[in-house]
Amino acid sequence: MKKFIVFVVLITFIFFCSCEQKHNGENKIKIAVSILPFADFVENIGGDLVDVIVMIPPGVEPHTFEPTPQQLKELSDAKLYLRVGEILEFENHWLDKIKSNAKSVDIIDCSKNIRLINNNPHYWTAIKEVKIIVENIYVALCSKFPDHREIFERYKNRYVAKMDSVENLYHEDLLKLEGKVLLDYHPAWIYLANAYGIVEINIEQEGSEPKPGELKKLVDIAKEKNIKAIFVSPQFDFSNAQTIAKEINAEVVEIDPLPEKFLDNFENVAKKLIKHLK
Ligand SMILES: [Zn+2]
Repeated sequence: MKKFIVFVVLITFIFFCSCEQKHNGENKIKIAVSILPFADFVENIGGDLVDVIVMIPPGVEPHTFEPTPQQLKELSDAKLYLRVGEILEFENHWLDKIKSNAKSVDIIDCSKNIRLINNNPHYWTAIKEVKIIVENIYVALCSKFPDHREIFERYKNRYVAKMDSVENLYHEDLLKLEGKVLLDYHPAWIYLANAYGIVEINIEQEGSEPKPGELKKLVDIAKEKNIKAIFVSPQFDFSNAQTIAKEINAEVVEIDPLPEKFLDNFENVAKKLIKHLK
């Protein structure tokens, strides 16, 4: 009997140990990224092999964000930091801190080969550019962890195929929006707009709220172009958008440039653009 109890205790102990190891991700490759969509990209290529740390929590305005000491500590055992790119000013602010706190982390610029439009850093919101980001992440993962190359390749190909099939669903309807005006608060959608010939106009002027004169000009443009919707990001205060919306009798529509799931969000954004711009 005694032996049996010892046996049961031992088995239970082993069982819990192995469970815990699975859950705390100790064996996983720790990768750090700045913004949520990049975590989605990394997880789609790395699957169960990776554990991703995201610097900017959901709902936070990234341009003014500062990492906490706790976050910097957490980074110390990350193997790769997959940064959005040098053009993103807030990443540059904390990169020096990251370098001194996490000496073993390799910092990779995911913007390689992306053709910038107006020096705008929001290239993760359009499929064409996301494919380049995904390729860059794939190359970085393969060169750092060559043993897993086969898995990374299979997962990456599957993700790219998924992007194509989602894009195909909306491609024709989005192309019909050529020449239409997407009036938004923050300039987060220029790459997506560009892919379909949509014209993006921003309420925010070079990172600040518009002055009264600028606001009036926007109202005039909106009236002239018969704009029926103003698009806002959930991370920003959109009182200015509401002011213009009231004046031109337009709807305020939320679209998220920092989603947790890029493809689900792409569908959501595509549907809203098709509905409100046509
Ligand atoms: Zn932004």
